[in-house]
Amino acid sequence: MTIKARILLLGLLAIGSLLYILGAQFAADSREYAGKHALFARMEAAEKLSGLVHELQKERGISAGYLVIRSKNNEDAIDAQRAATDRAKALLDSDTAQHLENLAKLAEVREMVSGHRTMPLDSFGYYTLSIVEILDRINALALDSDTPALKGKLSAHAHLLYAKEYLGEIRGSLNESFSQGSVDRERVATVGRLLGMHQYHSKIFLRDTTPAAADAFRATLAQPGVQAVFGIIQSVLSERGGVVTSEEWMAAASYAIDQLREVENQSAAHLRQQIKSEIAAAKQRFLLNGIVTLGVLLTLVFLAGSAIFHLLHALNMLLANIAHTVNTRDFSNRIRPRSSDGIGAISRNFNELLAVAERLIKEKDYLASTDSLTGAYNRRKFTELFASELQRKLRYSGRLALIMFDIDHFKHVNDEFGHAAGDAVLREMARLVHDLIRANDVLVRWGGEEFLIFLPQNGYEAAAALAEKLRCTIEDYRFPGVPKVTVSFGVSEYVAGDTLESLCARADNALYRAKQEGRNRVCVGLADADPMAMEAAGGPTRLP
Ligand code: GH3
Ligand code: MG
Ligand code: MG
Repeated sequence: MTIKARILLLGLLAIGSLLYILGAQFAADSREYAGKHALFARMEAAEKLSGLVHELQKERGISAGYLVIRSKNNEDAIDAQRAATDRAKALLDSDTAQHLENLAKLAEVREMVSGHRTMPLDSFGYYTLSIVEILDRINALALDSDTPALKGKLSAHAHLLYAKEYLGEIRGSLNESFSQGSVDRERVATVGRLLGMHQYHSKIFLRDTTPAAADAFRATLAQPGVQAVFGIIQSVLSERGGVVTSEEWMAAASYAIDQLREVENQSAAHLRQQIKSEIAAAKQRFLLNGIVTLGVLLTLVFLAGSAIFHLLHALNMLLANIAHTVNTRDFSNRIRPRSSDGIGAISRNFNELLAVAERLIKEKDYLASTDSLTGAYNRRKFTELFASELQRKLRYSGRLALIMFDIDHFKHVNDEFGHAAGDAVLREMARLVHDLIRANDVLVRWGGEEFLIFLPQNGYEAAAALAEKLRCTIEDYRFPGVPKVTVSFGVSEYVAGDTLESLCARADNALYRAKQEGRNRVCVGLADADPMAMEAAGGPTRLP
């Protein structure tokens, strides 16, 4: 796997992990939000069921009374109550209604009550079973909740329903007794047990519900109308008589139960409010978390993406630069370090290596092309330069000239002043000539004390003029430790068909002639093949 692929893989892993973590957070938030909604739906279902319980409790009491006394009043009351129960039942959703087995038998029981084909105790038992079944369903809804704080409150609410139910059972139970005009011992025991259950559930409601609902419940219990009901119950239990008419009892007990229904409504409204505000808070948290999550995600993806992009880009540039340098052997090339990190350090170090390589190559080229004593080009370099200049001339035309010069009686300098003095003259001579020729002209040490000046883009006239100028300067120059030094010059110019050898040979011949004719002079060697030019130059001749 390449480094680039590894970097990409790491980047993808990092971004993938981020996405996973933030996605999990998002899923948890949306689950919480959905949970709150489900809780609200359960609360609504519980309220509808509570409403049905309340109506069934009423219907139970009225049905029991009707079975004892079949009056027109009772008949009207039972019809009105059955309609109210049906309205509460119609509010249930079909799924909830289907799961209430006892409720399915309601029509059957009503028929038996209407036809007086059942005993008050049996009808009472049926309604009670139905109510307890619904209360158990409400309790199950409360326990099902996954929000602990609300679960407690919803469960407390269910206890209030149970407390109300036991009071309702006392109402029905005593209604029957009061209709008969007496309360037997068995009934006293039943009422005692029911009161105990009522008190037990009231206590748990007070313990677990909200302070506001608890206060409302206590205030209800303290009402004179409610107190009166518990007074009647107490006197029945203590068998101190206290028998009231069934109508009085039903009115008083129903009042107390209706008051408890008010507390129940308040408790439910309060719970609903609490759930609603929790839903709103969850929604807000959900939205805020969503925005923050998205923002963090985008920022991190951007940072990770740009880091990977920069890293890969820098790596690509570095590799491309190195490949370019290796392929072109252009050691003057430098990589532009883009960063201060490891890749930048590699670029800088590579640049230093390039600088070393470049310097070594220049030194090698210099040593290979330069004469070490005088610093002038050597024959090898001159051969190269001549070849490329010749190419250029053939392509673009123009002229090429050559000056060959040789120090006069140099052997004598060596013999008289020593070899070191001779070397010094050679060095000084090269420096002097180099200073007098143009940048384009090339000075070559041809061998011993013999030099060449190669003039690209010049003819023999300009070359001869330059040679003459050099001759005069050298003649007048004071070389250290050596009396007068003179030089002889031979000049030639390139003509078609010339080679380096033939061009040099003509200059050499001219130089030879200069020596022959007395030295310290310039001779021009023109090609025989170019009589016109020879004529123009006044024939092969020496200048001064
Ligand atoms: P001519 O005027 O005919 O050129 O006389 P010449 O003495 O200069 O000619 P010749 O070719 O006989 O002598 C050249 C001398 O140059 C011989 C050699 O000792 C000397 N020479 C050649 N190369 C060097 C060098 O590198 N250093 C020194 N000091 N002398 C050199
Ligand atoms: Mg819950
Ligand atoms: Mg010489």
